[in-house]
Amino acid sequence: MDVRRKLEILADAAKYDASCASSGTEKRDARDGKGIGSTEGMGICHSYAPDGRCISLLKILMTNACMYDCLYCVNRASSNVQRARFTVDEVVDLTLDFYRRNYIEGLFLSSGIIRSPDYTMEQLVRVARKLRLEHGFKGYIHLKTIPDADPDLTTEAGLFADRLSINVELPTETGLSALAPEKDARAIRRTMGNLRVRLEEAKAERKNPKAPRFAPAGQSTQMIIGADGSTDRTILDTSANLYGSYRLKRVYYSAFSPIPDASRSLPLAAPPLMREHRLYQADWLLRFYGFSVEEIAGGAGMLPLDIDPKLAWALQHRDWFPLDVNRASREQLLRVPGLGKKAVDRILVARRHRAVRSDDLLRLRVSPGKVLPFVVLPDHRPKLGLLDGEQLVAKLRPPARQMSLGL
Ligand code: SF4
Repeated sequence: MDVRRKLEILADAAKYDASCASSGTEKRDARDGKGIGSTEGMGICHSYAPDGRCISLLKILMTNACMYDCLYCVNRASSNVQRARFTVDEVVDLTLDFYRRNYIEGLFLSSGIIRSPDYTMEQLVRVARKLRLEHGFKGYIHLKTIPDADPDLTTEAGLFADRLSINVELPTETGLSALAPEKDARAIRRTMGNLRVRLEEAKAERKNPKAPRFAPAGQSTQMIIGADGSTDRTILDTSANLYGSYRLKRVYYSAFSPIPDASRSLPLAAPPLMREHRLYQADWLLRFYGFSVEEIAGGAGMLPLDIDPKLAWALQHRDWFPLDVNRASREQLLRVPGLGKKAVDRILVARRHRAVRSDDLLRLRVSPGKVLPFVVLPDHRPKLGLLDGEQLVAKLRPPARQMSLGL
């Protein structure tokens, strides 16, 4: 099989991993055996560098052959898909070729498990080592880590990769044992824990110019959404625990894609893609806006699909509002629908010099329709009864397919 055909197969097989993409924009469904819904050219995905820049990565698998039989995975051992496998040199050459042509700024490399976890991990490490040491490759490298592999291999991977990731796969251990019985939740957590220790050591050594760099972009993980019956609350509880226990940079949420000849334990349809999007918004609220899981996914445990979780919280807590923009604390302002972190920080700076008015808010490019019902300004006060009325919900509900991440 020529390299181009391998690239077609192994780039297509890699696109179900969300850890190298922002929230999806199209539905994914792999039941035709090839998968649809790719939002990018063959093998190219977009990710964010540690400095916040959006970068293009070559996103491929070493191989889509796998010894394991995770029920939700199109590449599982019992799947009928065409298999392909790159050699280490082929991945290195492709990466360098794409990089020199300016198609990509880095590589995202994962793999099905062949022969053994150690052997597979060794292959991934060999690619990264060769790129860095033999070719002086300065681009970004994200390597998937195989949890059961020897910890020394993971440590070596961190010497060459910018980011390492280990997929927890499912929100609960019960879900993992039901749908991926060969995977061991404890091994996944152990590997994350070891990585956390190694990352903290590397951070402490950073002042020493001779200390080796170790995965400067940290570690991340991915959870599949909608393959088991976990509620959004369970998913977010797991995320909060992962962020707290392992200092992850990101938890990625990937809506389950139906696969050919699927097990009866799996749902027939993918969850609404909006669910994935709402989870990303909720994740943001947990990490940067001071919300707790209970506050945004209490009750029945599911995030509303029609409005974003911050607006949903505000509508349930109308007694909190309206807030005086010139007197409210940072924590309070962060809870105003439509006010993002940057806007809040700018308000705090601006109001040191003079009172913030409606025009100032407009200059911050916030959505006035979303913010004004919840705030008081020297030249604005919400109409009497507006906050209590039912019309407010209808007024603030966005058109059905809106995908804005603005919080
Ligand atoms: S280990 Fe499981 S999820 Fe990963 S490629 Fe193999 S079957 Fe798929």
